[in-house]
Amino acid sequence: MADTLLQVKGLQVAYGGIQAVKGVDFEVREGELVSLIGSNGAGKTTTMKAITGLLPLRDGDITFRGRSIRGRGAWDLVKDGLAMVPEGRGVFTRMTITENLQMGAHIRRDTADIAADLDKVFTIFPRLKERRNQLAGTMSGGEQQMLAIGRALMSRPRLLLLDEPSMGLSPIMVDKVFEVVRDVHGQGVTVLLVEQNASRALQIADRAYVMESGVVTMQGQAQQMLQDPKVRAAYLGE
Ligand code: ATP
Repeated sequence: MADTLLQVKGLQVAYGGIQAVKGVDFEVREGELVSLIGSNGAGKTTTMKAITGLLPLRDGDITFRGRSIRGRGAWDLVKDGLAMVPEGRGVFTRMTITENLQMGAHIRRDTADIAADLDKVFTIFPRLKERRNQLAGTMSGGEQQMLAIGRALMSRPRLLLLDEPSMGLSPIMVDKVFEVVRDVHGQGVTVLLVEQNASRALQIADRAYVMESGVVTMQGQAQQMLQDPKVRAAYLGE
């Protein structure tokens, strides 16, 4: 079995008195695409923020490549191979496409390889290449999502975290985003995908976890979960 890249154990996260994550366990192994699904307010984004060091852990632990993320800054985690595409994308609207992509490589010093990776990102996203000198703020929501994914890839991540990449996009762009995530995974990047679009998230995943009210309520092979009547009734609108 492949090595565990990310291990979340007994994770608890709170906002003041509000306990948003109440003891969550899951793992992502090298090479997998794992989806975390569940309805609004289930605690998925909170879990992602805890993994990237943006929120403190109330209890439990998160290890990435065998080391606890506790007390480590975002910089250190990115250097270690963790890249996050946040909900809402977080692109730098007043910078060009190329500048945004270069920001994704700010932890790297291998200039020649950075240039090669920029070309690679432009091959995955021809639209970004066409628009490379355009300000990111003038791009459509779908294009900005592509940019956010491209920027994350520029750090050469071992693990790519994606928070609701399909949110607010037109059906065609939703198709494109899931296609890109599947392709990126096909190229060897391990992916943890948070999605409310459960059906699409399960279709491209190896394994999945369902979160509800701050706890994991179901887990398994994604293809089996797609057939599971409970999952179909609760999350696939049947
Ligand atoms: P969504 O898909 O709507 O983002 P989610 O599964 O990602 O849902 P979270 O955003 O993690 O859910 O929210 C989990 C719980 O924590 C919710 O009850 C939410 O209201 C609460 N919460 C989130 N952010 C804050 C905050 N900054 N302050 C207080 N409570 C918060």
